[in-house]
Amino acid sequence: MNEDMALDNPVIAIDGFSSCGKSTVAKALAHKLGIRYIDSGAMYRAVTYYFLNNKIAFPAAGKHSDFNYEPILDKIHISFKISSENGLSEIYLNNVYVEKAIRSMEVSENVSHVSAIKQVRRRMVDLQKQMKQDGGLVMDGRDIGTTVFPEAELKIFMTADPEVRALRRFRELQSAGVEVTLEEVRNNINSRDYEDTHREESPLRKADDAIELDNTQLNFEEQVAFVIACLRKLSIVDKP
Ligand code: C5P
Repeated sequence: MNEDMALDNPVIAIDGFSSCGKSTVAKALAHKLGIRYIDSGAMYRAVTYYFLNNKIAFPAAGKHSDFNYEPILDKIHISFKISSENGLSEIYLNNVYVEKAIRSMEVSENVSHVSAIKQVRRRMVDLQKQMKQDGGLVMDGRDIGTTVFPEAELKIFMTADPEVRALRRFRELQSAGVEVTLEEVRNNINSRDYEDTHREESPLRKADDAIELDNTQLNFEEQVAFVIACLRKLSIVDKP
């Protein structure tokens, strides 16, 4: 740990739009503070991956369903393990490593429909709340500061120009070998932003007490410095 923590087990919530670079900042922060990083989006992606693989129907964008998903959700076990290779937290679905598989365009195109299902959200939120019992953490997502940890010590709300986000994500996917066009990435980001902000259950919105971080013009170091400055101001880490 590089920073001296002034507070035991802090909870830091990083919310924001799709492809804002939340996870990059969240991981760096967790590393600096010596606490866990949890990618809540990966949990919704893992559920979506399960639904797709098992041909489980789900409502289209903005539609509701009275279907009882509970017996299906009972069969889904999500866990995180720290990789012995890179020290990063990686997601497992029913004890199978899915960290890479859940990043496919097919999952990205369906995850906002699945994550809008109330029963899915309630399960994931319960699981996320429980994770606090094991100590401090940095969690990124859409509703962490508003619904999962409204009591979080620090809440950051990240935004960036949609075109800049699309380009960053496109380059990321290209270097990961995913075949995709900029247009597809742009459409996916726009539709997820729309669905995530318009769903009934815990929609994406900035918590009243969240600090906004627009990183359109900021590099990685500047973003981390911004968050560290917030931690100092709130006396979560010791000054200077
Ligand atoms: O963070 P990521 O882009 O991987 O999240 C994928 C999707 O999971 C989001 O577009 C959103 O539909 C859903 N999500 C959510 N609540 C969270 C995190 C992610 O609904 N806390």
